[in-house]
Amino acid sequence: MTLAHGRPYLAIPGPSVMPDRVLNAMHQPAPNIYEGALLDMVAGLAPDLKAVARTSGHVAIYIANGHGAWEAAANNTLRPGEKVLVLVTGRFGAGWGEVFTRQGVEVQAIDFGKRATVDPAQLEAALAADAAHEIKAVAVVHVDTATSVKNDIAAVRAVMDRLGHPALLMVDCIASLAVDRFEMDAWGVDVMVAASQKGLMTPPGLGFVFFNDKAAARQVESPSFYWDWGPRANPAMFYQYFGGTAPTHHLLGLRAALDMIAEEGGIEAVWARHEKLARAAWAAFEAWGQEGRLELNIADPALRAHAVTALRIGGDDGSRLRAWVEQKAGLTLGIGLGMAEPDDPAWHGFFRLGHMGHINAHMMMGALGVIEAGFVALGIPHGKGALAAAAAVIAEA
Ligand SMILES: *Cc1c(COP(=O)(O)O)cnc(C)c1O
Repeated sequence: MTLAHGRPYLAIPGPSVMPDRVLNAMHQPAPNIYEGALLDMVAGLAPDLKAVARTSGHVAIYIANGHGAWEAAANNTLRPGEKVLVLVTGRFGAGWGEVFTRQGVEVQAIDFGKRATVDPAQLEAALAADAAHEIKAVAVVHVDTATSVKNDIAAVRAVMDRLGHPALLMVDCIASLAVDRFEMDAWGVDVMVAASQKGLMTPPGLGFVFFNDKAAARQVESPSFYWDWGPRANPAMFYQYFGGTAPTHHLLGLRAALDMIAEEGGIEAVWARHEKLARAAWAAFEAWGQEGRLELNIADPALRAHAVTALRIGGDDGSRLRAWVEQKAGLTLGIGLGMAEPDDPAWHGFFRLGHMGHINAHMMMGALGVIEAGFVALGIPHGKGALAAAAAVIAEA
């Protein structure tokens, strides 16, 4: 018997849950892209996006996913042969490095493993060794969605400032924007990339590159026509916002999502909701982990993302649990991305719970409840009291 018929919860973690309001906003005939309401609406997007990113800088919007935003950031800032220092704390840091490499940029990578944040001492050593300032940019992922680690971006900037290193600081907030606290200007971030389908609750298809005046001044002389962030951030003609036809329906969806963020009480309220829900999930996972093999991938709560939680459970229990909760209960969990190769049996011993965007307390309690049902049904050993522990977090004033 299956109990999956009802509203599903896709917690993979991205694309995230799409609000009906976003979907309904998109459900309309194509608008005119030459005059009228759409043009007025688009002019209002940038201020609201910048408020979410906590910057007074610029934003360029691309018809692209996160990989496109990665590519746009690289294309505007680095010439072939120049060097970028990439700080890797999971699959996504490594992925950004590959994008730089394919653009002919020389990548120096420091890999901090799958269970730790950037180590400031190692970063300091790498930058101190670069007395000639050949490193033109430092690239780091704020929340690595594969490992669910959250890097301390202000600490990275502090190391760069202490050494007086002039490199640009470029941050991937694709998983964390509108989820985990991120302060672009206050933390000294020069370039930030994001995408529509995670904290911004809009279908995949919009990529964002935020950049400050320092990064604008350092723009390479001849970025590609399509990736050039200049006309997109400061268009003389409407079509220049998008390098061609506007992504009309995605923009309508994004407008609704930004309105929802404002109506919740602004970005601080959105961050607070995600923090509380994440803490409820951790409380449950920690209680289950008292017996059996379940373990949070990131041991220190201070280093965990509020967007997603990566779990280690061993054997094939990760894949068995994912299949059970999807087929029996309508909850789709994430695979253990980048934790083992897909042809390695160990691959089946991981899973992730995405908790970003349009989720609330009853969705989180429901997800945790059916995970517990899955443990019981599959005979997977687990500690007691997990749901009570999660409920206690939700119940806090
Ligand atoms: C999802 C994600 C990406 C990749 O985004 P795509 O839209 O799949 O290209 C990159 N970085 C992080 C941190 C992500 O979470």
